[in-house]
Amino acid sequence: MVNLPFSGHTTPTLGLAKVLVDLGHHVCYINASDWKEKIEKTGAVFLPYDNYPETLSPSQKEIKSWFAAYQTVQRVGADFDCLIYEMLFLPGKALADQLNIPAFRLFSTFTLNEKVLRDFGRTGGWYMTAIFRYPRLCRLLSKVIQKKFGLRYGDISKEMVHNAPSLNFTYTIRDFQIYPDEFPAAHYKYVGPAMEDRAEQDFDFSQMTTPIIYISLGTLLNTSAAFFRKCIDAFRDESVSVIISLGKTVKKEQLGEIPANIFIYPFVPQLKILKRASLFITHGGMNSVNEALYYGTPMLVIPVGNDQPRVAQQIEDLHLGRYLKKKPLTPDILKDNAKRVLQDMSYKEHIIPFQKKFQAARGNAAIAEMILDALSQKGIPLT
Ligand code: UDP
Repeated sequence: MVNLPFSGHTTPTLGLAKVLVDLGHHVCYINASDWKEKIEKTGAVFLPYDNYPETLSPSQKEIKSWFAAYQTVQRVGADFDCLIYEMLFLPGKALADQLNIPAFRLFSTFTLNEKVLRDFGRTGGWYMTAIFRYPRLCRLLSKVIQKKFGLRYGDISKEMVHNAPSLNFTYTIRDFQIYPDEFPAAHYKYVGPAMEDRAEQDFDFSQMTTPIIYISLGTLLNTSAAFFRKCIDAFRDESVSVIISLGKTVKKEQLGEIPANIFIYPFVPQLKILKRASLFITHGGMNSVNEALYYGTPMLVIPVGNDQPRVAQQIEDLHLGRYLKKKPLTPDILKDNAKRVLQDMSYKEHIIPFQKKFQAARGNAAIAEMILDALSQKGIPLT
């Protein structure tokens, strides 16, 4: 297995390593050393990227990680029976072809094709997906990447769609996918979220009353102290308990006086909280949204960038919550919309069929089964 060192992309895949190891297979997982402990917990062998000094700055690390991951797979890949990669590792299929081993791809966002990527480009703001807004720039960059990574096509989206492995797995259900008919069922499998035991820490709800509102902007695009201040003002002294996960950048001290009904932490056991929360105020990260749908928690989605605005739109279109824009957001808008979703039972009613399907989906266990099946059909011995 190989991945880029981003939480939203690596976290859901850890369970797959564990399922495969538990079934008696040897799994080697290539990633940055920050992931060593979590990967080793799955029972997989952790292999750090080659040529990836600890001294790099965070932004240097982001750029370097693609090539470091590539070089490492290139060096060791031929020793393995297959390569499992997440979609952000663009050269996965081309590299597996070079190594002459089968490849399997995981999607931690929607399944992607040109149409989905165009939507992301149009709506995703000045983040990584902006490249898909400018086809000429995209082609220029693609040429550089093509040369460096030996891609088949000089166009990133074409490479993703037309140089695809035969089996691709997406961590959501088909009903939530945008443009689902564009992805042939034989090659694109919807397995639902990775809900394996995450060994989450305990959480003390004893000081809280219901309803509980949970607020998080995920692990990456969570740097706006102003946003969290608005949340505090919106729910100050209201008869709700509010749990806020701040992330690593914003500090509690930046948020002024905290009312007694608001509980703030740098990181929380999100699954435990979603299980009890009546409303989730989220940035619309795909993992968070999948988890909320699994627990049937309606959402207010306030996207920051990348795929999040498109996820927010899908939540709104399916009436699973409401899409609020970050720009004109005020405490009053937040409070009014929260009340609306909490009181209007139609959101809960629309979520229930999704929740049932999410809970019936088998996540990583289903992926492992299909991969092993495909390998045995190729005559690869699995004992
Ligand atoms: N998460 C968590 N506790 C927190 C904040 C986030 O466990 O306090 C987890 C959350 O359950 C999800 C992931 O971190 O699985 C965030 O992924 P997502 O795709 O939602 O957003 P990203 O961090 O990639 O923007």
